[in-house]
Amino acid sequence: MEVSKNFPQVAFRSYIKLKNYPQFLRYTQAIITTLGKLKSSLEKARFVHEMVDQEMSELYKNENVQKLTACQKGCAACCHTQVSVTQEEADLLAQRVLDGTEINWTNLQIQKDAGTNFERFMQIPYGQRKCVFLKDDNSCGIYEDRPSVCRTNAVVGSKDQCENKDGQIQKQQILNTYNADMIVMGAYMYTQKSGVLPQMLWEKLNSISELENQKKNPQENKKVSNTLRIG
Ligand code: SF4
Repeated sequence: MEVSKNFPQVAFRSYIKLKNYPQFLRYTQAIITTLGKLKSSLEKARFVHEMVDQEMSELYKNENVQKLTACQKGCAACCHTQVSVTQEEADLLAQRVLDGTEINWTNLQIQKDAGTNFERFMQIPYGQRKCVFLKDDNSCGIYEDRPSVCRTNAVVGSKDQCENKDGQIQKQQILNTYNADMIVMGAYMYTQKSGVLPQMLWEKLNSISELENQKKNPQENKKVSNTLRIG
């Protein structure tokens, strides 16, 4: 099975790492089959998140894993890097925004302009590179609906190695989360489109805005709404 043409750079690296793993096909096919039976995007995104969480909880039952991982609430260096999402996850995030979750619109616009280009994204100044869902206390504003890759990212050793204020990614020792990663890959192989969080969220919110505009102004339905482009 071919991966999406728009597979984001960071997710593509996981795919290359995992595609020859003995259980890869079994895991990904099971996820793809279930996703095909679920109706809405939000159900699909949440199903994948639940499956990923189950695998991660299994992993964290191991005392050594608990002792060795450096990740903790409030250390948010990884929330200043590029996050990949599927279309279903982008739909879920857009729904959270429509439901009232506040985001930094200026940063969203700056970040989406980097597209899927990781190097370009990392050149954005640190404060503007911060995930639009990251709150002032460095906690995630949509924790229960955060994307799959935010759930599997676990660094082993010292959190100092996560520092990326200067736009440079240090060599990190990452926890082996193969089972959870294969579930994530199943979701990426299933989805019609994937990309990076700012760009996918921007596109989804704009498409909703355009649709609403068309409903309000059926005579002028070719006009493109700028409503959501105001920072
Ligand atoms: S969605 Fe939440 S956990 Fe993921 S990068 Fe954004 S703030 Fe961090």
